[in-house]
Amino acid sequence: MNIETLKVRYQESEALDILKGFLHDYPQQIVLASSLGAEDQVLTDMMLSIEPKARIFVLDTGRLHQETYDVMALTRATYEMSYEVYFPEAKQTEALVTSKGPNSFYDSIENRKECCHIRKVEPLKRALSNCKGWITGLRKSQSATRSVLEKIEWDETHHILKINPLADWSEAQVWAYLKTHDVPVNRLHKLGFPSIGCAPCTRAIKPGENVRAGRWWWENPDGKECGLHVKEAH
Ligand code: SF4
Repeated sequence: MNIETLKVRYQESEALDILKGFLHDYPQQIVLASSLGAEDQVLTDMMLSIEPKARIFVLDTGRLHQETYDVMALTRATYEMSYEVYFPEAKQTEALVTSKGPNSFYDSIENRKECCHIRKVEPLKRALSNCKGWITGLRKSQSATRSVLEKIEWDETHHILKINPLADWSEAQVWAYLKTHDVPVNRLHKLGFPSIGCAPCTRAIKPGENVRAGRWWWENPDGKECGLHVKEAH
């Protein structure tokens, strides 16, 4: 089925129905990329309710918060499931930290992108290498860079489908779902972190700030993506 047909088919669909459709049509070839944040916990609960062996992966950058590992462990136990875990390539990571130290990302955008490339972008490529599509917890209202977001997109970088079932969801809908379904929640959210990422690059936000303001807060808000969700220019 081509991308335009899929867009029309799922245009008005609820998140659960989108997941049911793709998990049925592409068994074991559709994966959720989970950051262990609220949106991804919603999708984890939905996917495992449809297919207990649904594939969910985590990019373990080596710099995640302990709270993130805690909710990862709790989710594994609650659903009796396992995550596929991808680490950065050891040699590249060793070379980076040896040459530039452990906190090079604060020194320049170039250094930050280099670290994200090694710890996130390259492992993501490996995670998606045998897939027809990946599911994300992106929502339109999360940031300026996500305001144009469709439920079904074509990922030019990885040449697979990108499925955003929660594109139209509000933050309130996310939290209502988590509460109703008693889903494990990352403790960082209670501490003021709406967006879950690496510990040195994510901070709590103040009331009224954009939900993505706590990510790479020292950079310009227009360009704050880690390379995982950046659309390539053509
Ligand atoms: S978010 Fe920060 S620590 Fe994590 S990969 Fe990117 S630059 Fe490195």
